Amino acid sequence: MEVLGIDIGGSGVKGAPVDIETGTLLAPRLRIATPKPVKPKAMGEIIATIVEHFKWDGAIGCGFPAAIPSGVALNVANLHKKWEGIDVSRFLSDIVGKEISVINDADAAGIAEMSFGAGRGEKGVVLMVTLGTGLGTALFTQGKILPNVELGHIEIKGRVAEQWASVAARKRYKLSWQRWGKRLNTYLNYLESLFYPDLIILGGGISKRHEKFFPYLKLRARVVPAQLYNNAGIVGAAAIYKGDLTVGIDV
Ligand code: BGC
Repeated sequence: MEVLGIDIGGSGVKGAPVDIETGTLLAPRLRIATPKPVKPKAMGEIIATIVEHFKWDGAIGCGFPAAIPSGVALNVANLHKKWEGIDVSRFLSDIVGKEISVINDADAAGIAEMSFGAGRGEKGVVLMVTLGTGLGTALFTQGKILPNVELGHIEIKGRVAEQWASVAARKRYKLSWQRWGKRLNTYLNYLESLFYPDLIILGGGISKRHEKFFPYLKLRARVVPAQLYNNAGIVGAAAIYKGDLTVGIDV
């Protein structure tokens, strides 16, 4: 099955058609930079542009950077506040004129890694953490997802974790690899003490440079970089139509 995968981020929207049996992109992806912070209507128009670019008439899956139970955006931290409480699935479907299924962006990245990347075949507890503007998290057991887990927002050392240990925080505070790596290690150790995952997959664009910060990570779990890098969000958003990893997600 071919599905158009779309990944909504704080600074850009990416999309490409995906073969969801293999997880491969069927055409070069299109990325459209967004003004920051982008309001819902402008975002809808960008998504319509992506759908038109690929002349897409089939299924569409979309990753969104907030908790999104039953398609409704809640606790929006890294997008315009106007998104709060909006039924994103319905809103985007109405603007684009086609049915669009929406899930959390980190859940999408996790589904992609579990299906085609670093988590393939893993049956134990797997924690995916996406390192970017925020800290996105996804939790799996027996290959099934518990959706909308928001562990970037736990408090650590009196701070919201993602404001202290994300890639954005690394840039904001001009942290060396070592200092940031140690913060990330503190954060991951805390998550480990709460969930005891067997495997931790670290994603986001920065996972390409994992050799810079992996030396500072000391955890009980195996820790591996994501394998799909920047395409995980697109591939995972499309892969929700596979239907075998999507417990709790309505497609
Ligand atoms: C949001 C999550 C999202 C993460 C990465 C966080 O601020 O609350 O839903 O997955 O950023 O985009």
